[in-house]
Amino acid sequence: MDTLPSLSQVIKDHGLLGDKKLSKRLGQNFLLDPSITDRIAKAAGVLTGFHVIEIGPGPGGLTRSLLKAGADHVYAVERDRNCVAALQPLLEASQGRLTLVQADALKVVPQTLTPSPLKIIANLPYNVGTQLLLNWLKNLAGLHSLTLMFQREVALRIVAPPGSGDYGRLSILCQYLCEAERLFDLSPQSFTPPPKVFSSVVHLHPKVLSDEAKSLVPYLEKVTMGAFGQRRKMIRKSLKPLFGEEKLEEVLALINVPPQERPENLTLDHYRQLAKFYSQLS
Ligand code: SAM
Repeated sequence: MDTLPSLSQVIKDHGLLGDKKLSKRLGQNFLLDPSITDRIAKAAGVLTGFHVIEIGPGPGGLTRSLLKAGADHVYAVERDRNCVAALQPLLEASQGRLTLVQADALKVVPQTLTPSPLKIIANLPYNVGTQLLLNWLKNLAGLHSLTLMFQREVALRIVAPPGSGDYGRLSILCQYLCEAERLFDLSPQSFTPPPKVFSSVVHLHPKVLSDEAKSLVPYLEKVTMGAFGQRRKMIRKSLKPLFGEEKLEEVLALINVPPQERPENLTLDHYRQLAKFYSQLS
């Protein structure tokens, strides 16, 4: 690995970032400073004994850090075939610890690539980052943790507490299923080319949930969709179509939520209880 060319050289040799439209569409903002990629790898905890799935290795900066940090095996899923070609020398240097998968990560189910224990670690392409996370949340089986770089605005939504402007459907779903923590921010200047916004690394650790708790997820999604679809409305108005006026009044009284409350002021547990009542109605 020590004899590999620098990442700037890899980018130059393979004409990465050469097609500005393509690289913008693929969210190609690369990290070239090894101290930053090492920090992300470290944030994911111990990698020895784990298989890692990395989405979008690009020129391979984070991939190098993941291998260096001792991951048993890294499965790197990259859509851009030029990046896959640029990663060949790293593949050879990895001594069988790297698998390159040329594919659209939106169509890849992590658990089909490798047996657990599994960690997903990635500097995500911003345009599909939230959708990727939502896909993974649907099936967390075998996933030990997810350490992911998002644009800061998305990271703030993931970890937002009740009462804050960022609190919404994404916060509730993530926090219901995982312990979620925003670890650190990176300025646009940390990337090549620099994006317009700050980025944040988020660590998600799936919670151990009972089958009953897991079965509430579709109802939780419906309830939060109803509540936050009309964010400015009082909860008694926005959830009326789901519960009906009388039942809703009864349920809100049971869980001690004033009917005129706004959706951002209800806690995760309130939403869990609403999902439970809604599941009994459905
Ligand atoms: N990991 C590299 C780094 O940190 O320097 C690159 C990160 S860059 C933000 C995102 C990467 O994801 C790019 O290499 C891009 O080509 C790739 N990508 C974009 N959309 C993708 C998709 N749907 N599936 C797989 N890879 C994708």
